[in-house]
Amino acid sequence: MLADYHMHTSLCGHAEGSPEDYVNAAKQCGIKEICFTDHAPNPDGYDPDNRMTLAQFPEYSDLVSSIQKQTSDMTILYGIEADYYHGCEAFLAPWLKKNDFDLVIGSVHYIAEWGFDNPAEKETWKSADVSHVWRDYFTLLTKLVDTGLYDIVGHLDLPKKFRYCPPDAELAEIATPALDKIAEADMTIELNTGGLRKAVNEIYPSPLLLKMARERNISICFGSDAHIPSQVGHEFNMALKLAKDTGYSECVRYLKREKRSIPLHFDHIA
Ligand code: ZN
Ligand code: FE
Ligand code: FE
Ligand code: ZN
Repeated sequence: MLADYHMHTSLCGHAEGSPEDYVNAAKQCGIKEICFTDHAPNPDGYDPDNRMTLAQFPEYSDLVSSIQKQTSDMTILYGIEADYYHGCEAFLAPWLKKNDFDLVIGSVHYIAEWGFDNPAEKETWKSADVSHVWRDYFTLLTKLVDTGLYDIVGHLDLPKKFRYCPPDAELAEIATPALDKIAEADMTIELNTGGLRKAVNEIYPSPLLLKMARERNISICFGSDAHIPSQVGHEFNMALKLAKDTGYSECVRYLKREKRSIPLHFDHIA
C-alpha cells in the first residue's frame, strides 16, 4: 500500500481530529506509512490565520513524537508543509535546518497578497488574467526550487482549484521552466488527491503535467492533504492508476530528508 505523505493537525486552526484519529484512519485503509505535514509557523507575520504560531510548534513536535512512540505497527514520519513566498528564507532556512524533519513539502498558496486558493478570495479570479496568474505562480515555484529548502513540491498545479486554467498548450509552456528545475534539483512532486475534493475534481497535478514530470524522470510520492481523519488515503487507487497510466513504475519514500525509490504495485487497482 502507498504511503500518505500529506496531512494536517488541528494546530493549523482549520483541520480536525487528533493524530490518533489520523493513524487509525490510515490503518483502516491499510496504509503502513504516513507523514504529518502541518502548515509551518512563520513568525514574520505571513498568513497567520492558517498556521500554528512558533510558540505552538513544540506542541506539534510533541504530538508527532508521542504518536510515534505509541505506534509500533506503522511508520509515522515527522514532516512540515512550508510555504514559499518572497523573503521566507530568512526564517525558514535556519529553522528547517535545526529541526529534524523527515520531509519538507514546499507549497505556494499566495501570489503577492492574494491567497488564490482561499475560498474567501475566490472572487478575485473573476477579474484576473488567468494566464498571467499561472505565469506568476510557476515563477514562484521556480524560486521555491532555487531556495533548496524543500524536498517535495506540494500540489503542483494548485491554481486550477476553482477551474480557472489556461489551455493545455499554454500551460505546458508556462510550466516547463519549473519542471526543468524540479528535475535538476532532484526534487519530488506529490500526487495530491485533495484536488478531487475541490471544484476542479482532479488530482494535483493534471495528467498533462504529470506526463511532463515523467519525461523528466521527476520522482513522485502520494498525499491526501487530509484536514479531517477520514480523508487519509483519500482516492489513492485513483492516484495509483494515474501514476500507472503515466508510465511510472516507482515512487519514493523519505526518512530524515533522504529519499529512496520503491516499486509501485498495480495489482490492487480496480
Ligand atoms: Zn491546510
Ligand atoms: Fe497546501
Ligand atoms: Fe496541506
Ligand atoms: Zn496542501
